[in-house]
Amino acid sequence: MKNSFDFHVHSTASDGSLSPSDVVRKAAADQVTVVALTDHDTTEGVKEFVEAGKECGITAIGGVEISIDYPGTMHMCGYFVDVDNDELRSGLQFVQEARLNRNPMIVEKLNAAGVDITMEEIVKVAGGGQVGRPHFAEVMVRKGFVSNTKEAFTKYMAKGKPCYVDKKRLGLKEAVAMIRSAGGIAVLAHPGELRLNGQGEYEEIFKRIKDEGVEGLESYSSHHTDEQNAQFRELADKFDLFSTAGSDFHGDTKPHVQLGVFGEQVEVDVSSLIETMNWIRTERCKL
Ligand code: AMP
Ligand code: FE
Ligand code: FE
Ligand code: ZN
Repeated sequence: MKNSFDFHVHSTASDGSLSPSDVVRKAAADQVTVVALTDHDTTEGVKEFVEAGKECGITAIGGVEISIDYPGTMHMCGYFVDVDNDELRSGLQFVQEARLNRNPMIVEKLNAAGVDITMEEIVKVAGGGQVGRPHFAEVMVRKGFVSNTKEAFTKYMAKGKPCYVDKKRLGLKEAVAMIRSAGGIAVLAHPGELRLNGQGEYEEIFKRIKDEGVEGLESYSSHHTDEQNAQFRELADKFDLFSTAGSDFHGDTKPHVQLGVFGEQVEVDVSSLIETMNWIRTERCKL
């Protein structure tokens, strides 16, 4: 089912294939009239994205997606962040430097595994945005070392595979505090990617994030099955977190993901969701 909103999309500022304004144009053409940009570790695309939203007459919300220091995959989205906020800027600079340190180490490992690629080739593919593993995958596909992106991960770069290299990340507390100090709203992205065992473990984490100041849960995600979507929705309600929905659209980088698609039976009233987000921000200003 395609929806008229999407709170999780990427652009060329990170590992998406469309520029921020092209994402907005595509959203408008696809009748996705509320869309939020959540590039990995950068807000570089936000100003262009928000401007394009005004031009196209759709609601384009600026945001960011931050990888959190955690044994599994934990990503935190921040919506309505002030991109000029000093704390946000210095936090993002830290994670961007961590990428710059990690990326050549991945190249080294790939080279040792017989994958002949260079950092220059990868930077070129990334086109000036934050360089992520999907860019490595793109070069590997182009040069015929793997037949698709998935294989680049499952054979080489996924966690536990021979060319995986970890990078320094922000702690949960720091990341949430940083989003909040930039006036933003923290929402835990695709909770299913935490890959925890059983409801109890999820409840523990949701309680913890709530205590840290996270306000929403991306209950509906293209990373989830319909059953997971329904379960996360229930847990979000239980922990008084509002539910958002996002496709994690990356354009051609992840061709199987479509804008506005994140499962069947999506129960999100988008206008009250935006109202809730705005209300939280206004109330916080009064404190
Ligand atoms: P990075 O932030 O550079 O570590 O790269 C993480 C990004 O790589 C994620 O946001 C996804 O876009 C992509 N990714 C991670 N794991 C996989 C996988 N197993 N298959 C395909 N893409 C993946
Ligand atoms: Fe990505
Ligand atoms: Fe993510
Ligand atoms: Zn994402």
